[in-house]
Amino acid sequence: MRRPIVVGNWKMNGRRASVDHLIAGLRAVGGVDVAVCPPAIFIRQVVEGLGGKGIGVGAQDVSLYEQDGAYTGEVSASMLSDAGCSYVIVGHSERRALCGETDEDVARKFANALRAGLCPILCVGETLEEREQGVTESVVARQLDAVLGVSGVAAFERALIAYEPVWAIGTGRTATPEQAQQVHAFIRARLAAHDAGVASRARIQYGGSMKPENAAELMAMPDIDGGLIGGASLKAEDFMAICAAAGGAA
Ligand code: PEP
Repeated sequence: MRRPIVVGNWKMNGRRASVDHLIAGLRAVGGVDVAVCPPAIFIRQVVEGLGGKGIGVGAQDVSLYEQDGAYTGEVSASMLSDAGCSYVIVGHSERRALCGETDEDVARKFANALRAGLCPILCVGETLEEREQGVTESVVARQLDAVLGVSGVAAFERALIAYEPVWAIGTGRTATPEQAQQVHAFIRARLAAHDAGVASRARIQYGGSMKPENAAELMAMPDIDGGLIGGASLKAEDFMAICAAAGGAA
């Protein structure tokens, strides 16, 4: 039985006061793992503010570079770990599209995160154009294989995958439970081709306009093990309702 996990991706939002307000509304939920990924500058505030609440903290990105040194503006995996993070999102579609991150970059970041003891959350997913061309599975396979090639399948005992169709992110347009399940099952089968045991234990989250109204039906699908939540994670009440739905699906 896989324990669901719900992670909030706050993206580039917040100020110290609004972050405190959001923290105050968060609490652990039975039967489900919960974490939030604030902008890097708020990580310490969130780690300290959530102390004792049983909620993990993650970062939204990590440097390609592993060792300290002359990498202006970069934050390494080891620094994130030292700051109290347990998770880090890698390969979010916004970073792939806006910052030109390649599959190879994502695979390096994933490996750096693992080596620093962080749990990477690998985001994969197709654009609307790719879905319409019928290449969803080959796109997701390519993104996944890049990481498998560097870190191997056993890495997914200590990592998460988030299937995030790009056309559903921040658009209000959610994949149907059946559409999401189909890709989740494909991802699990791809892992199973390497190791059936790891595949059966790997947790695969859905992300893309998940909200309190659609969370339960998405998370009721057999291969959906929680959610990566963008917009709805900025309202504690909505985020908590999604976590409760995940707890219900556990
Ligand atoms: C995300 O950015 O990871 C995400 C899922 O965003 P939203 O929930 O706003 O679609």
